[in-house]
Order: sequence, then structure tokens, then C-alpha cells
Amino acid sequence: MDCPKCNNEMEQGYLQGMRRVAWVKNKHKVSLLPKQGEVLLENNNVKDFLLKAWICKNCKKIIIDYSNKEIREG
Ligand SMILES: [Zn+2]
Repeated sequence: MDCPKCNNEMEQGYLQGMRRVAWVKNKHKVSLLPKQGEVLLENNNVKDFLLKAWICKNCKKIIIDYSNKEIREG
């Protein structure tokens, strides 16, 4: 995948972390379910989350592919 900013080839890997990750429209306290328009990418107390991701280390950008995940959209 090419970087949308500088067009360099991006490096494929994973975004790894623990517990919960969500894309939210506005900052708010963590809630169990996504609010309208939000995307809950992972919510797991037991194991890490892994999301396929590409990185451009020039521009410090990360693109996440969540098409293979079961995603809850608000
Ligand atoms: Zn770039």
C-alpha cells in the first residue's frame, strides 16, 4: 500500500495493543458500546488486539485495515 501523503511504499505489520480500541468522533469517557457514528474495533479483556496496519515512517502515519474484524458500529 502506498502512503496517501508521500506515496512511498508503506510497511505492513500490525497495530497491537490491549483491551479496547475504538474510533470515536468526539472525546468522551470510555463506554461499553459505541455511540452513533463510532466504530468499536476491539473490546477484549482477555487477549491482545491485533489489527492489520501499514505504516509510513516518513510521515508518521498508520493505516489500519479492519475489514477482517467483527466490528461494532454505532
Ligand atoms: Zn508517507
